[in-house]
Amino acid sequence: MRYLLTGGAGFVGSHLAEFLLGEGHEVFVIDDLSTGSIRNIEHLKPHSRFHYVIDTITNVPLTAELVDQVDIIYHLAASVGVRLIVESPVRTIETNIKGTEIVLELANKKKKRTVIFSTSEVYGKSADIPFREDGDLVLGPTTKGRWSYACSKAVDEFLALAYWKEKRLPTIVVRLFNTVGPRQTGRYGMVIPTFVRQALAGEPITVYGDGRQSRCFCHVMDVVPALARLALENDAVGKVFNIGSDQEVEILALAREVKRLAGSVSDIVLVPYDVAYAQGFEDMRRRVPDLSRISALIGFRPTRDLTSILESVIAHEARTRR
Ligand code: UDP
Repeated sequence: MRYLLTGGAGFVGSHLAEFLLGEGHEVFVIDDLSTGSIRNIEHLKPHSRFHYVIDTITNVPLTAELVDQVDIIYHLAASVGVRLIVESPVRTIETNIKGTEIVLELANKKKKRTVIFSTSEVYGKSADIPFREDGDLVLGPTTKGRWSYACSKAVDEFLALAYWKEKRLPTIVVRLFNTVGPRQTGRYGMVIPTFVRQALAGEPITVYGDGRQSRCFCHVMDVVPALARLALENDAVGKVFNIGSDQEVEILALAREVKRLAGSVSDIVLVPYDVAYAQGFEDMRRRVPDLSRISALIGFRPTRDLTSILESVIAHEARTRR
């Protein structure tokens, strides 16, 4: 099969590209390197079934040509990371909405199956744990920049589902929960690469708020095979799927675990949200996926626990910082 990965030089995209190549497929990547990195795909370049172009998906003739060449599209190109969202809200909203509009419109012309990447962020402040795909989305006010990310992704979801309902374009929506692993950058605020970098450098490990907020972290190598399976399932079309782990950890406990596994001398410090982000920043206390829909369809079950996730990130960071 031939796949197009928009945003294929990003963290998840580059792992997915690698996996699909390993399965014998042909992979085309388009990435403008706004948050992705050429280093993520450096090792794939020599591969005869790997093709990449550094450009933006808003280059419509180019994206159209790529869409024509493939069987399935994974639309990963997007602005990600809470820090980027808070600091560059215009870019986040425009990239996420315009990019998806272009990809879906082009895919629709040739009726190419398209997987749209959304996020657990869309559940917002919902307290209805675990989050089910058909549960309510509870977002904060438009004056708080963080929610623009969830909102832009929710619009992408509406659009993808509308293309299926109205135009019979086969679309699948995936909501990734905190996905982590080697090659994820801490530049946009993600907690595990940040803590690991701090621990290895002997710098203070910065826990925001009281550290009692929790997340569930899933290794990218558990996520990627699920993405490959799901795209081939006819029963996935027109539906939304949570993908992630349901093993919860509080952020303060996470910091302690990173420190222990890295053998670090770093102090763990609590940083108020107002200092970390901006005045009036809102965080979510808990975020746990209900995985019954995806496990019923493809038998999805994460295999790596937090310790093995952290070990793989620490090993990667230790290698690349030398
Ligand atoms: N966080 C933290 N210290 C950091 C970065 C993040 O305590 O240096 C916290 C953040 O406030 C949130 C959690 O870690 O509660 C996960 O943050 P991340 O940005 O990785 O993902 P999110 O789940 O918020 O999208």
